[in-house]
Amino acid sequence: MVKTEKIEVKTKGNCNIVDITERVSNTIADSGISNGTITVFNVGSTAGITTTEYEPGLINHDIGAAFEKVAPRASRYEHEETWHDDNGHSHVRAALLGPSLSVPVVDGRLVLGTWQQIVLVDFDTRPRTRTVVCQIVGE
Ligand code: ZN
Repeated sequence: MVKTEKIEVKTKGNCNIVDITERVSNTIADSGISNGTITVFNVGSTAGITTTEYEPGLINHDIGAAFEKVAPRASRYEHEETWHDDNGHSHVRAALLGPSLSVPVVDGRLVLGTWQQIVLVDFDTRPRTRTVVCQIVGE
């Protein structure tokens, strides 16, 4: 069986990290599927999905600081010459993080560590409302 659901996630942009674990978990409950795999996919090329421990050091500083080293906001990006916008770093960061995550579903629950949350990281330079597709394949 395959079930697909969308969730909308409001973000502040600028490396805002939003915990979506509970909402993803709710889509499994709604699906009636007990065992399989859920794919969590962000629609759009300036945000990504991963897991992290959701604590202030990582959320408010460390992860953003790491991406600032890899793709600094103030660098020059050809993308910004193409569209005359300001989010070249957002696209590069999102490409590195990746748009999706697969998580095993066992007995109707996400298989996650105690300190492991599913997060959407929005790298764009303004607040956005994101569409996240949760697709569960299983029985
Ligand atoms: Zn752009």
